[in-house]
Amino acid sequence: WAKADGKARWTLFDPERNAHRMTRQALSSTLRRAVERGEFVLEYQPIVGFADDALRGVEALVRWRHPQFGTLGPDRFIGLAEENGAIVPLGRWVLQESCRQARRWMDQHTGPPLYVSVNVAVRQVWDSDLVRDVAEILEETGLPSGLLQLELTESAVMGSAGRPLQALQALSEMGVRIAIDDFGTGYSNLAYLSRLPVRALKLDGTFVRGFRTARHQNPADETIVAALVQLAHKLGLTVTAECVEGPAQAERLRRIGCDTGQGWHYAKPMPAERITELLSWPPAGQSVPSPASAPSR
Ligand code: C2E
Ligand code: MG
Ligand code: MG
Ligand code: MG
Repeated sequence: WAKADGKARWTLFDPERNAHRMTRQALSSTLRRAVERGEFVLEYQPIVGFADDALRGVEALVRWRHPQFGTLGPDRFIGLAEENGAIVPLGRWVLQESCRQARRWMDQHTGPPLYVSVNVAVRQVWDSDLVRDVAEILEETGLPSGLLQLELTESAVMGSAGRPLQALQALSEMGVRIAIDDFGTGYSNLAYLSRLPVRALKLDGTFVRGFRTARHQNPADETIVAALVQLAHKLGLTVTAECVEGPAQAERLRRIGCDTGQGWHYAKPMPAERITELLSWPPAGQSVPSPASAPSR
């Protein structure tokens, strides 16, 4: 029974798990204050057109510059912020900061303006006055509504009746584009989505992962993606592929007719200043540099 004893003690006191729980509690309880203290920063990941390799937009991705724990990725704290409601002020800050930045790029740069794509948590659609916040932020920053895309997950919009649906409709009437993030990971129902004011799909990385290299490819994945893109286009939706990690994937997605892509093949998420540099390079146009010269962290 020594083993059973050891096992019992393991579940009673596991230092690692205990530390993990304490960290979660520490993070959770300081989230709101951290928003007020300005401990969050945004990075932006280029979204590139497959047809011409031009930079079309950027996705804003939040990071927490934690005074004790260093820089934390969103997977460490977005879930906690959703649980305790801090996602509402945090989400508002993300929207404000990314719209300000997008307006700056629009003013500094003469080419076609970049759009900014902002992740919105389910709870923001339910809890806060998202529509009013977005309207105020667009007004205050002077960003044209057509340059703002909001990314919601399928679970945020599926079965959305009442308040969430009203919010989506109001945002869409304002000219803001609604996109479904990580499409294909939930109970995807394109027929249903097409009846909502949704205008873009972001195909989850798991699809693209299936045709990574010329030699190791899963033909089923490519067939599914091709069919999805075709159907989405017939329903009037644009398609962005996530996690484009190599040239072979980019080439296949281009042939399939996918509209835009983002991923390490083009660039990793980067600080705003790096995007500003990309916008002025090369001087003649706004092509994204080849992967070899693309900035990476
Ligand atoms: P997401 O919206 O699906 O964002 C894409 C994630 O994939 C990002 O991770 C990005 O860094 C990563 N990624 C980009 N290209 C590649 C690639 O080629 N390969 C691979 N393997 N990964 C790639 P990140 O920044 O850690 O964000 C994780 C998630 O956190 C996001 O997933 C999003 O759901 C959430 N998130 C980020 N910022 C916010 C925010 O401001 N608000 C809310 N509510 N959620 C956010
Ligand atoms: Mg996203
Ligand atoms: Mg995504
Ligand atoms: Mg994701």
